Amino acid sequence: MSKGWRVVRVRDEAGQERLGRLDGEDAMIPLEGSLFGALVEAGPSRPLAGLRLLAPVSPSKVVGVGSNYRKHAEEMGKAVPPVPKIFLKPSTAVVGPDAAIELAPGSVRVDHEAELGVVIGKVTRSVSAAEALEHVLGYTALNDVTARDFQKADGVFARAKGFDTFCPIGPCVALGLEPGDLGVQATVNGVLRQDGRTSDMAFDVPTLIAFISDIMTLLPGDVIATGTPAGVGPLVAGDVVEIWVEGVGRLRNPVVARSGAGGA
Ligand code: ZN
Repeated sequence: MSKGWRVVRVRDEAGQERLGRLDGEDAMIPLEGSLFGALVEAGPSRPLAGLRLLAPVSPSKVVGVGSNYRKHAEEMGKAVPPVPKIFLKPSTAVVGPDAAIELAPGSVRVDHEAELGVVIGKVTRSVSAAEALEHVLGYTALNDVTARDFQKADGVFARAKGFDTFCPIGPCVALGLEPGDLGVQATVNGVLRQDGRTSDMAFDVPTLIAFISDIMTLLPGDVIATGTPAGVGPLVAGDVVEIWVEGVGRLRNPVVARSGAGGA
């Protein structure tokens, strides 16, 4: 598998799931094999038009990290914690590029959080920081969507961060990136809201993997949401939110009111 590949998962015209690697922003080279094994190129470049981009992996769990950027901790009125403050987002919150983020019924404040997502490549248990990056498949862009009023009311995060559609990831898994100093941005309707760098993290990616893997075994495809820089802000129905991570690309999702049973 090649360093520099940005691997996407798509559904083709026949409804089949396929892997590919991005060839520019609007085309892909089909791949055969497994994301967690060997991948080989299988055919000529083809346009992405007509394909639906899916979440690049289906994690068994998404492990979030709170207050991991000093300025974001400040804007939330908190200090950077002495050890990483982790929480879980359910696998059912995960959606892919272009999928709608459904606002949480009853919440008056749903925020975007632009984050670097770490995609785990192999079973990872109690690894040291020095060996942690060997267990990473690659990196993705992640929006840790949060019902801020519920987070404040509850004190715990399961409701605030656990709604269906509250964890867009994508558009790809970028292989072989160095995670230590990447730009992370959020724009809403084209207006820049968050603009940070992963070098400002209180706990860096190797430290997070070591800390988390001492608590719970990380499985291939699991994702760590590494925390968000300053500038979080509200989303309303009709918005389009984009999370950009340097070397990964742009994850775009529209925001809608929840429809159907239980909706407002
Ligand atoms: Zn977050």
